[in-house]
Amino acid sequence: MIEFAEVSKRYPNGQEALKRVNFELADGEMAFLTGHSGAGKSTLLKLICLMERATSGQVVVNNKNLNRTSRRKIPGVRRNIGMIFQDHRLLFDRTVFDNVALPLMIEGYPHREIGRRVRAALDKVGLLSKEKHSPIMLSGGEQQRVGIARAVVNKPPLLLADEPTGNLDPELSAEIMHLFEQFNQVGVSLLIASHDLSLIAQMHYRTLVMKEGRLVQDQVDSLEQDSE
Ligand code: ADP
Ligand code: ADP
Repeated sequence: MIEFAEVSKRYPNGQEALKRVNFELADGEMAFLTGHSGAGKSTLLKLICLMERATSGQVVVNNKNLNRTSRRKIPGVRRNIGMIFQDHRLLFDRTVFDNVALPLMIEGYPHREIGRRVRAALDKVGLLSKEKHSPIMLSGGEQQRVGIARAVVNKPPLLLADEPTGNLDPELSAEIMHLFEQFNQVGVSLLIASHDLSLIAQMHYRTLVMKEGRLVQDQVDSLEQDSE
């Protein structure tokens, strides 16, 4: 699903955010990406969804070499990736339903299909009863679940999450992780950036550790290191 080969990223100001990163994420795999603030986690995710371009090396996503993707084809790449952000980026002047419907409206889906898909997505995150609410009226955990529904509404094969539980207490964070697991169980690939090591340790998933732009560890099971 994702392949990085000797990928480096230098920002225009000279900051080297990624240094010769190599890894693969298989189809249907779920993995965590961790490391201190500034380690390069967000940058790595941004290269996958073409919010940034690699300076050197090769990024392949869903069998497409992103080095060769023209600006015009970026929307096509993003259509296959659901993105979840720490601040969930919801529109507070629209209902929950409209927030989740947004990606489908942009794609020009027929009205009935939008209704069906939005309700299916809200059902998956347990928020069907709140479709007419404004996100302002929801708790932090619920807002994040709306963000997740929006990310999965067009059923992308890959979900990327950047600190999805950054603003949530441990219990709500665990709930969000459980949701991610459910998507993984139906075949969705996930790469989840988080610096919450105790949360990662509760889950038994591959964990990629970054430090100063380098991938310094790649563990099959997060507990091997953090169980003491
Ligand atoms: P993380 O997500 O692990 O906190 P980032 O990928 O955000 O790490 O940042 C990696 C490094 O790149 C940091 O030193 C950060 O300051 C720098 N950086 C991130 N974005 C930019 C940018 N747009 N311009 C310049 N430097 C940046
Ligand atoms: P249809 O495929 O006709 O649109 P549904 O919307 O009911 O039917 O989805 C069928 C199944 O596919 C659901 O059980 C759903 O969990 C699963 N599924 C597959 N890929 C995804 C994805 N990216 N996000 C959410 N669910 C998915």
